[in-house]
Amino acid sequence: MFISKIFVMKMKTILYICFSLLFATSCNVNGQNNSTKEDMKYNKLTDFEKSIIIDKGTEYPGTGDLLNNKAEGLYICRQCDAPLYTSDSKFDSHCGWPSFDDEIEGAVKRIPDADGRRTEIVCANCAGHLGHVFLGEGFTLKNTRHCVNSVSMKFVAAAEQNIQKAYFASGCFWGTEYYFQKLKGVTKTTVGFMGGHVDAPTYRQVCEKNTGHLETIAIEYNPKEVSYDELVKYFFETHDFTQSNGQGPDIGPQYLSAIFYSSDEEKSIAEKNMKVLAGKGYKVATKLEHSTNFWEAEDYHQQYYENNGQTPYCHKYTKVF
Ligand SMILES: [Zn+2]
Repeated sequence: MFISKIFVMKMKTILYICFSLLFATSCNVNGQNNSTKEDMKYNKLTDFEKSIIIDKGTEYPGTGDLLNNKAEGLYICRQCDAPLYTSDSKFDSHCGWPSFDDEIEGAVKRIPDADGRRTEIVCANCAGHLGHVFLGEGFTLKNTRHCVNSVSMKFVAAAEQNIQKAYFASGCFWGTEYYFQKLKGVTKTTVGFMGGHVDAPTYRQVCEKNTGHLETIAIEYNPKEVSYDELVKYFFETHDFTQSNGQGPDIGPQYLSAIFYSSDEEKSIAEKNMKVLAGKGYKVATKLEHSTNFWEAEDYHQQYYENNGQTPYCHKYTKVF
């Protein structure tokens, strides 16, 4: 658990740095910055935005643009474009302001509020006022609510970040996800099922071994940080790809090793790596198939090891390439 958290923290820090650089560049291109030397890093704010971000005001509840936004993406600082929150941490609190149960590591600073009771949160980069943080309310497992003014943030949809998807099956999807979610450049992992002939299968159905599905993970990744080739190599290095009846002690068709490619390019990258392995004398049992519908597994399977503080019994990293 401890190690896994460090990796997650590292990943978030990397994401933070990358987006800081990305948006610093795009701001210059768009000419959104003030031209004075003192504040040329920051975006120009309207009077209303200033009243919240600089003067620490609060927008009227239920009025913010981002309150009901459920799209996947990144919430960045209105004033300086620093990434603050990912859509994964957003939840419905019905308090009238966007709520998050976690921040991007290092992105948000907590300070005692002037009222002497609450804890104010500000952008760690520009000190712009965001809102307040409340603990112990029990909304989510993290027991934390960042109550943030919509106007203090901007939203960047995942589609604009050029995030790519890849699908791999390598036995128990808890173990597959455990490794992939630590890999640099991987922005999100989801466990589910692929390759079968039943729509929206449940875990129980797949366990009966007659739906044709394999336990599969969907990986979202930033190709500027990690390539599909690197993902494929990592896939082979984190499970026994020579086992033809399952993975480790998990025996059955749902535990087979497979790469589900979505383009000719992905297919040829997978084939190239499989040839390299064959050349090294391995008998590769991995199936190579075109991706089909990905059916998300039940919530309790997602980030299983991270949420339960355990480590996989069925996967381990072995350098092969
Ligand atoms: Zn900021």
